[in-house]
Amino acid sequence: MKQIYFFSEGNKDMRDLLGGKGANLAEMTRLNLPVPTGFTITTEACHSYQQNSHQLSEALQLEIDHALDRLSSSTGKKFNDKFDPLLISVRSGAAISMPGMMDTILNIGLNDDSVIALAKNNDRFAYDSYRRLLAMFGNVVYGISEEIFDNVLSETKEINNYQSDLELTTADLKNIVTKFKQIYQDVAGKDFPQDPKKQLLSAVDSVFSSWDNNRARVYRRQNNIPETLGTAVNIQTMVFGNSGEDSGTGVAFTRNPATGTKNLFGEYLLNAQGEDVVSGVRTPESITTLQESMPEIYDQFAKIAEKLEAHYRDMQDLEFTIEHKKLYLLQARAGKRTPGAAVKIAVDLVNEGLIDKNTAIKRIDPESISVMLHSEFAQKALEQHILATGLPASPGAASGQVYFTAETAKNAHDKEHQKVILLRQDTSPEDIEGMVVSEAIVTSRGGMTSHAAVVARGMGSTGVVGAHALQVDYANKTATIEDCVINEGDWISVDGTSGHLYLGQLETTDAIINDDLATLLDWAKEISHMGVYTNADTPEDFKRALKFDADGIGLTRTEHMFFKPKRLLQMRRLILAKNAKGRIDPLEKILLLQENDFYELYKLSAGKSVTVRLLDPPLHEFLPHDDKEIELVAKEINTTKDALKARIDSLKELNPMLGHRGDRLAVTYPDIYQMQVTAIVNAVIRLNQEGFDIKPHIMIPLTNSKTEMKWVRDVVVETIDKILTNKNTTLEYKIGTMMEMPRACVTADKIAEVSDFFSFGTNDLTQLTFGYSRDDVGSFMPEYIAQKILPNDPFQSVDIEGVGELMRMAVNGGRNTNPELPIGVCGEVGGDPKSIQFFEKIGISYVSCSPFRIPVARIAAAQAAL
Ligand code: ADP
Ligand code: MG
Ligand code: MG
Repeated sequence: MKQIYFFSEGNKDMRDLLGGKGANLAEMTRLNLPVPTGFTITTEACHSYQQNSHQLSEALQLEIDHALDRLSSSTGKKFNDKFDPLLISVRSGAAISMPGMMDTILNIGLNDDSVIALAKNNDRFAYDSYRRLLAMFGNVVYGISEEIFDNVLSETKEINNYQSDLELTTADLKNIVTKFKQIYQDVAGKDFPQDPKKQLLSAVDSVFSSWDNNRARVYRRQNNIPETLGTAVNIQTMVFGNSGEDSGTGVAFTRNPATGTKNLFGEYLLNAQGEDVVSGVRTPESITTLQESMPEIYDQFAKIAEKLEAHYRDMQDLEFTIEHKKLYLLQARAGKRTPGAAVKIAVDLVNEGLIDKNTAIKRIDPESISVMLHSEFAQKALEQHILATGLPASPGAASGQVYFTAETAKNAHDKEHQKVILLRQDTSPEDIEGMVVSEAIVTSRGGMTSHAAVVARGMGSTGVVGAHALQVDYANKTATIEDCVINEGDWISVDGTSGHLYLGQLETTDAIINDDLATLLDWAKEISHMGVYTNADTPEDFKRALKFDADGIGLTRTEHMFFKPKRLLQMRRLILAKNAKGRIDPLEKILLLQENDFYELYKLSAGKSVTVRLLDPPLHEFLPHDDKEIELVAKEINTTKDALKARIDSLKELNPMLGHRGDRLAVTYPDIYQMQVTAIVNAVIRLNQEGFDIKPHIMIPLTNSKTEMKWVRDVVVETIDKILTNKNTTLEYKIGTMMEMPRACVTADKIAEVSDFFSFGTNDLTQLTFGYSRDDVGSFMPEYIAQKILPNDPFQSVDIEGVGELMRMAVNGGRNTNPELPIGVCGEVGGDPKSIQFFEKIGISYVSCSPFRIPVARIAAAQAAL
């Protein structure tokens, strides 16, 4: 098995084998771009390493020897050479990019001898490189905390009153090197290995095992990256951005990763190496200044950036280094971006002819769209005093309580259910768990490509970085700006679009859909087969859903209309009435109220279909429960407290969810459904007389059989016919059923004979298929998921194997009887992208979800159709 590929032997399609970094280094080499020579040890070698009880096999070591010989002959440099020693970097890189999660070591090959060779030309640079190697190697291979090395640097700077690393002299650096070597002795009890070959093998070993470090695991869990991938290792000749003021290092995006705007966006530092730019030790310069300081390099880089973007047909995130005015590329990858930038870039790339609409849709994570619909701060709120301003690293508007460490933030979030904001000088990969739970991430240092900025954008959370006015004091848990002190737990508001920070909780406004998203959603609509409807109980819900371009209403739950106080009283009178006669008056009163509700709702429909479900919940939900309330209601309905209590008791059920509800109420109290149908039809007739053309859809809940459906349908039809005859008019309408009982799914072919449409109520269907009370799952569901007895909560993403099979059976049965039968899904999972994939497969005609989920479902439906 070949375990090593030179960059010249690979290409971009070999990600699985070479990892993303390796595959792209190979691709850039193939494109004749200036990439320092090197080779990649494959992910297969990583698997062998894992199976070989975490040891590098002889075979691999032999292959590494050969590869090193080849590297030497192509670069003319050798390990330990007295004049021109070979120095390399050892870089991790999995198939799916995990920025900063695993380890990289630079300057391997330096030791007490070769540092002298390197120092001949430039001694400061040689010792700067050596101290970097010692710190990285010590941290990655021997697990010595970075802080210990950092402290030595800070002390030296403090004693000499230096502001930046750049002021460290050769003498300082030599001193630091000596101290670092002492740390090896004191902390790890081992020497720094002087043999370059040994350094290399230990580094490879550590990169392979860094796959299993804690922060990498958390990141994989967070991003659904399979544990089995493993990482490749890239060995690459060093180029030196720290070799003087005509050298430097930087990162750049071909488009703005926060907004998507098309222009080169990035940062660099002169006389610096590797991580200096992202780690925030020095605040980098914007790449636009490179245009002035090194115009030829800037132009060359800009051209390469454009070429790579066109080649990959996507926004690229590039790493580059300049060594004595010569440009090198060190990494290219698809750039992480905010959900908003993702949408803008996808739409722009289509308009620029680089990708087609289908590709644009496929690139969007449907779930991330919901982040774009988050609110903004209200204009009025923004007139507040601005506490501080940083760089707008990741857009959004968030308020929360401040914590200064990832750990305290996570605790406050997990245990106290607080909305938290992580406020730090800067962040590092160790902070990942705290960042995940934060509403916003704020740092006082670092630039737009700092760790905090990249991670915030990647997660779609709000981010402001480099707010220099903030003095963050970890020891006292405070952040100070002039005379204002923010303590742990204080509320602040963060505007990631402007970079402003405010004290307290700011008011927010409703979300809007911007032009790019609207365009993308239009394309999604063209592409998808399934319609996307909304669940809406009120005109307000419906209006919001129409703004999000809902195709209509898939579910109106009429019971929600009864919970306003005046109506609740009538509803209670209705329920508590002893007989049909007693129900007449409350029914008449409710009828008028309901008719107006439906009138308002239908009036908004503008040709889109509206499906109203008749009363569904058990009646006891409308009744008073505690003593005080019972007394009040007794007064309201003119009876005694005891009489009322007795009546309530008589209505109590042991299992109300399985009891007297849904169409079972229609069988025992047909007058309730008659009233609701009358309200619907009266409202529609009124509107149609005003010039509308509405064809109401009426939905019967909880149906179990054809006979039952037919019985209820007859009641509904009779009611409608009576009204139409009375008013001497006509009306087109449809009467359909919820599919939420397993029995109904099994007998769907028969039910379809008397049903004009089906709509799956996946909440009840899941509850009844599993036998889980959906109101009580909280006590055991988390453990079922933790123990992997269930892959996920079936109330959030459909259980394809069980519930899904019943649905498939019902679809097939229904369509056997009526090939044109419209079949929708209106349960919670109707807005879940993974479930939507499945619904497309079994031939569902539409999904219905809450207004805010509509754009998510629309993109998911299009992806399902592709
Ligand atoms: P990460 O995945 O964390 O970005 P990298 O392997 O890309 O880790 O490397 C970390 C830093 O070191 C980057 O800034 C990269 O450009 C720099 N680097 C890596 N290899 C070399 C090299 N051969 N010469 C100069 N700089 C390098
Ligand atoms: Mg990198
Ligand atoms: Mg139901």
